[in-house]
Amino acid sequence: MPGRPRGHEQTSAYEELGVTPVINACGIYTDLGGSCLSATVLEAVAEANESWASMPELLDRSGEAIAALLGVEAARVVPGASAGLALSVGACMTGHDGALMEQLPDTTGLRAGILMQRGHRYKYTRCALMTGARVHEVGGPLATSEAELAAGLRSDVACVLHPAHLDGHDGTVPLDHVTERAHAAGIPVVVDAAYMSFPTELIASYTRAGADLACFSAKYFWGPNAGGFVCGRADLIDAVAQIDFTRFESGQHLIFGRAFKMDRSAVIATTVALREWLAMDHDARWAAYARRGAAIVNEVSGRIPATVETGCFTLDERLVPEPVNSVFVRPDGGCGHSAASLAAALAQGRPSVQAVAVGEVLSLCLETVREDQDELLAERLLAIFDREH
Ligand SMILES: *Cc1c(COP(=O)(O)O)cnc(C)c1O
Repeated sequence: MPGRPRGHEQTSAYEELGVTPVINACGIYTDLGGSCLSATVLEAVAEANESWASMPELLDRSGEAIAALLGVEAARVVPGASAGLALSVGACMTGHDGALMEQLPDTTGLRAGILMQRGHRYKYTRCALMTGARVHEVGGPLATSEAELAAGLRSDVACVLHPAHLDGHDGTVPLDHVTERAHAAGIPVVVDAAYMSFPTELIASYTRAGADLACFSAKYFWGPNAGGFVCGRADLIDAVAQIDFTRFESGQHLIFGRAFKMDRSAVIATTVALREWLAMDHDARWAAYARRGAAIVNEVSGRIPATVETGCFTLDERLVPEPVNSVFVRPDGGCGHSAASLAAALAQGRPSVQAVAVGEVLSLCLETVREDQDELLAERLLAIFDREH
């Protein structure tokens, strides 16, 4: 990762607490703390720490900056994509009515349906339900017809929720058709685009395809684990701003968004990380993974009873050949190790090396490994097999 601080082990604060430092060969996962902040982002955070600012103003100006960077109508920083989903659905249910915002999760008198296609069932729906909304599911497990979708767009539906990474999966109606039909019924579409931030052109593509709001997670563009943003239609972003934590303190209404409070530093870090992500030389980033992966393969191949090769561990946890971001280790049959037992052995050491076993393959994703730890990664692999001879 270009620009990432390196060379100094940030372990003493952890050690003081008895927390095991982790070499993260899994990739970007919330439970491992998301990303690392770059030196540039940390510098901006340190500066923000030096001075107070009005949070409503900081959120308004950072939202405008993000909207300008992306070429979208409006944006708002939120503490993650899941918070973004809850605030977005709440905004769609209540519009600009503060009394209705305060009433949630009591949905009496409100449109309270979230329309979803059956093939889009996924876990983050849970975060949208804290508004008091309920899911109205349409379609079957392997297909949703346009007619089924249209029939579901009734007057009690507040919005359609469309997970971008599941677009077109299992016979679902694609986003551009969904937005066309939903808009014909006067219903907004909220997109979960949490990890759709690379290639960077993807970010603005959802609102261009008609999405009214799209939610992104900063963890996937090397921002804070508790950062993200919502972008889309200006009037709905304004409603998101009304239902977020700032108006609880300064406005008339006691809204649930108060629980999604942010630090100045998280707002700054999200904004600066996005700017850096958009300007980054991503070809160089991927070329570095390929070069580092090949070096590790070269180092351990033939020295352990396993097939070792480079590959790509995707954000939806599949193993594909390219583009290279990972080293795949497939233990030979009868060697006494499975991918899962290798993962367990690596995790037991100190620092703990964490990696993902997918079937019979152990993936060592290099995106979250510091380059100066590649050698250690190879040594640990060699040592696990050595110990047994
Ligand atoms: C990580 C993730 C989220 C949640 O994002 P946070 O920023 O961690 O709240 C939502 N949807 C998908 C698909 C994700 O991968």
